[in-house]
Amino acid sequence: MTTPTPLIAGNWKMNGLASSLAEAKAVAEGVGTTSVRVGICPPSLLIHRMTEALAGTKVLVGGQDAHTDDTGAFTGDISAEMLADAGAKLVILGHSERRDAYRESDALVAKKVLAALRHGLEPIICVGESLEQRKAGQALEVVTAQVRGSLPAELKGKAFAVAYEPIWAIGTGLTPNNPQIEEIHGAIRETLTAMFGEDADKAPILYGGSVKPSNAAEILHAREVGGALVGGASLKAEDFLAIIRAV
Ligand code: PEP
Repeated sequence: MTTPTPLIAGNWKMNGLASSLAEAKAVAEGVGTTSVRVGICPPSLLIHRMTEALAGTKVLVGGQDAHTDDTGAFTGDISAEMLADAGAKLVILGHSERRDAYRESDALVAKKVLAALRHGLEPIICVGESLEQRKAGQALEVVTAQVRGSLPAELKGKAFAVAYEPIWAIGTGLTPNNPQIEEIHGAIRETLTAMFGEDADKAPILYGGSVKPSNAAEILHAREVGGALVGGASLKAEDFLAIIRAV
């Protein structure tokens, strides 16, 4: 079994202006030559400038979403081709905020993954249950169904990551305990193996939801946790670096 290289990715969401590039540069300086893979997904308007600011460093730049199509009459949308053209290497797809606010289904996310693959982007595909689903004992079932529905067969042999982000843990300060994380990550790993065989062993399964410097080491050392997708704590270089160093 191949152990995936850990990936710590920051999701800046709708935060960040040109002045925030200094924070990204501080991250790049702080990580130096770490063996951990590091990514920052800023708002799309900053992608090009960030790739230029971080050229020659270890930090990869990513988008937070991409359309299913490459071009067309889709006012306000951004395609995977445009992200790649701007220098992005990663793209977050199926984030729960988009699944909720824009009614993104598993089938739509799977099409977005195909768009990412067409343009050489490494997708970080998000899955996760709501609090109601967890309370009803449906977390495993919901998450594994999202993995099966959101990851197309074309991912076989390609670089990708899955991010387990319980919706109730995002931005709330709440986190599942390690046995709860390990149960879901183990089930995601089994599902990936059933879908893609040993090829999927290289794909890290990230945990996301209120990761911060104070809880990062504990979460990142749970079984099958291959890194983190970090929201709020990725906005400050000092906090993000502390999380990267906790791997
Ligand atoms: C996220 O939105 O992907 C996330 C993990 O947010 P936070 O770390 O702020 O909970």
